[in-house]
Amino acid sequence: MTLINKGIALKLLKRVDVLSESQSLALDIGGSLAKIIYFQPDGANRRKERTDGIPKLCIDYLDPKREGSSISVRVPELNGTLHFFCFETRNIEDCIKFISEHYRQNGKEKRRVRATGGGSYKYDKLFSEVGVELTKLDEMCCTVAGLTFLLTHFDHEVFSFLYPDGTLPPPGLPESAPALAECRRFVDARPDPFPYLLVHIGSGVSIVKVTGHGKFERVSGSTIGGGTFWGLCRLLTNCKTFDEIIELTKEGNNERVDMLVGDIYGGDYSKVGLGAGVIASSFGKVTMRKEPPPTFSNLRKAWRRVVCGTFWLWCDFMLNIPILGHFLRYLGLEKHLRSRIANIHFGKIFRAEDVALSLLRMISYNIGQIGYLNAKRYDLPKIYFGGNFIRDHPYTIASISYAVHFWSHGQTQALFLLHDGYLGALGAFLGGESTISENSYSEM
Ligand code: ADP
Repeated sequence: MTLINKGIALKLLKRVDVLSESQSLALDIGGSLAKIIYFQPDGANRRKERTDGIPKLCIDYLDPKREGSSISVRVPELNGTLHFFCFETRNIEDCIKFISEHYRQNGKEKRRVRATGGGSYKYDKLFSEVGVELTKLDEMCCTVAGLTFLLTHFDHEVFSFLYPDGTLPPPGLPESAPALAECRRFVDARPDPFPYLLVHIGSGVSIVKVTGHGKFERVSGSTIGGGTFWGLCRLLTNCKTFDEIIELTKEGNNERVDMLVGDIYGGDYSKVGLGAGVIASSFGKVTMRKEPPPTFSNLRKAWRRVVCGTFWLWCDFMLNIPILGHFLRYLGLEKHLRSRIANIHFGKIFRAEDVALSLLRMISYNIGQIGYLNAKRYDLPKIYFGGNFIRDHPYTIASISYAVHFWSHGQTQALFLLHDGYLGALGAFLGGESTISENSYSEM
């Protein structure tokens, strides 16, 4: 699911009158991202440019440069269309300001909007000041309700990951890996999807055992989640957005920084069934590096790196100047410059691309393994992975699938969702806990 930038989010909000249509909105304000769901009933013609029944609220429509990024799903059960969009929580104050500037309040009356996530508490006062009263719903209830709704209603939503030949080899280098669309095996909706395990990878990780409508328990969690990945990437590279990092991973080769079984054994460790290509230690290869001797030539190389680094920092600055940045992008230099900027802290031996990919695999494997252990602990055959850390990224999905398959010897199934980041917002839209047992949309 596509994440949109602040400008587009505000454009979308402008088309939705959050005050008069507050019943149609639900928010999930997390530590990293704020997710919004807007419901457009069939036949609604609230703006002149929308035609009856045809959802127009698409990113493609607002930003034709983006590919295949429709954010709308028609839901016959609700007689309307759900539109999904999200932006970084650090911009939420701009959004609230935007609401206060663009929507007139109807006298003193406050409008209620369903909201979940920690931000619904943190920003409650700010919303209230602009005439929006947040109806706070429990985050875990909403997330489970959202997932259960998707599992029970949509045939084209939940999928497992398998390469087209039916195998699940360790994720190969991105250029050799097949496209995600070819690897998705969709699972049909079923009225009784229980029991299952939900591993929700947001900033942190929550692991929830779900045994029935409204019956769930948070059985475990981990501090090593999407926030860890993103935080470490920001520390190690100069990337400013999550999407930049994901772009970088596409050019990476984790074998340059990860220590493989083959690096230790010189081949397979067949006695315990470990192939030469299995990672023995994430980032382990970095420790094998010999320090360069303090020769004059090495000193000169280090000095050259400092000079080049300063130059790339200037380029970073120029990319952020509106007209100049636009010109550099027009010349097709952005990708090259971004890669150079991301690599400022690295010498010639390691590359930001490889480090980002290694981190992505490390975190994905770790979460896949913890998910498997919990599934085993409660004897659950299926694990659903959600949260914006995944965001439909093939490499993340392949890594998690591989980890679950590896540890469970194929006994536990890893499943993913097209709307992986919107479970909480969807649950809030549905009314949270109150609707889990009814499995339907309820009025607030
Ligand atoms: P939360 O509710 O804690 O914000 P999310 O499910 O929204 O959790 O996932 C947040 C994680 O999603 C981040 O930690 C990061 O790994 C990932 N992510 C995906 N896209 C972005 C983005 N554009 N900016 C920041 N983080 C992103």
